[in-house]
Amino acid sequence: MDSEKVIKRDNEYVLHTYGRNPVVLEKGHGLYAEGPEGQKYLDFTSGIGVNSLGYCDLTWAEAVSEQAHKLQHTSNLYYTAPCGKLAKKLCKRTGMSKVFFGNSGAEANEGAIKAARKYSFDHYGKGRDTIITLVNSFHGRTIATLTATGQEVFHQYFGPFNDGFQYVPAGDINSLTELVDRHTCAILLELVQGEGGVMALDPEYVQAVRALCDEKDLILIVDEVQTGVGRTGTFLCCEHYNLKPDLVTLAKGLGGGLPIGAVLMNEKVAEGMGPGSHGSTFGGNPVVCAGANVVVDRMDAAFLSNVNERAVQLRTGLAKLPRVKSLSGIGLMVGIDFLEGIQAADVLAACREKGLLVLTAKTRLRLLPPLTLTAHDVDMALEILGEVLTGMQPKTVEETA
Ligand SMILES: *Cc1c(COP(=O)(O)O)cnc(C)c1O
Repeated sequence: MDSEKVIKRDNEYVLHTYGRNPVVLEKGHGLYAEGPEGQKYLDFTSGIGVNSLGYCDLTWAEAVSEQAHKLQHTSNLYYTAPCGKLAKKLCKRTGMSKVFFGNSGAEANEGAIKAARKYSFDHYGKGRDTIITLVNSFHGRTIATLTATGQEVFHQYFGPFNDGFQYVPAGDINSLTELVDRHTCAILLELVQGEGGVMALDPEYVQAVRALCDEKDLILIVDEVQTGVGRTGTFLCCEHYNLKPDLVTLAKGLGGGLPIGAVLMNEKVAEGMGPGSHGSTFGGNPVVCAGANVVVDRMDAAFLSNVNERAVQLRTGLAKLPRVKSLSGIGLMVGIDFLEGIQAADVLAACREKGLLVLTAKTRLRLLPPLTLTAHDVDMALEILGEVLTGMQPKTVEETA
């Protein structure tokens, strides 16, 4: 079916909660995706940080299809090997004690919110249940995670929203310390705010948050849905901050393209989550876990070195391009600020025309390439971005308005 027909049918029958690019993707290999008419795209989005091994990695695809041929689902009433295998690897890699599996980032954060509140209830009783999150954060689209998201634009239309969430500006330890009271049970944060504009937190601030949590016995939840599983050059972004949270949530890149979410818990939080306390029909699904096992196995020292080397190459190249003002983020989670008059959305559209797929986050251009990218892939992306930016004329204030 040609692109025009695919787009027309989709527009007619699929609920349009997304502003889709006018691009149909039919197949992919490595860093490249192809459209029905043979269009070729270099993909620096990886499906928003999901396709960590690129398109259709052979080992990943074989593990997934082998498991699909063997046993596709059992429910959590029975044991299957891939789920426990993945949980063990995640615990060994991160120093956490137990894992709960769900299907998405939002669901992982829901699980973390529940586990934090359960810990607080078990140790302090009722009424100590408030979770403090950061302004400009993003934690998901369910009602509770929307409420947790510290952006007013998300707190519309769908109310009533949940009680028990408060917000403080990122980086401001005094505001946070002042807000903590006898109702506070946890602090939830992203180390690099992704959707909020690719903004990394200051390491000193993060250490101060950890110290505050220790002092008041608050649960520190780190949302690594976007930053986790190698994205920033370490398995968890926490490693950059030398941080030990009580709860870590993972999702996006973990499954290599299949839906999975995980809540990693330390011993003290895991203790309270006994049989019946939480669940998810699809959670720990063997096909999905078979894929995730390949992703985690692939992330050895050499793999992570490539992530770091490519990140340096990409950032060094980007800094030299015209109209680029500054770069943000860590590793292969890259935000680009442009000089005045250059709109990230215009750059995105122009890149697409030249066969490079990129993202935006707030006012920034955002790059989340597959972690398997080569030096040549980086050169190609820099070449296209260079051409686009060289040809871009800054708009006047009237034109942008
Ligand atoms: C994408 C994202 C989520 C939501 O994940 P879904 O899988 O879309 O539910 C939550 N937190 C962060 C930091 C994210 O980037």
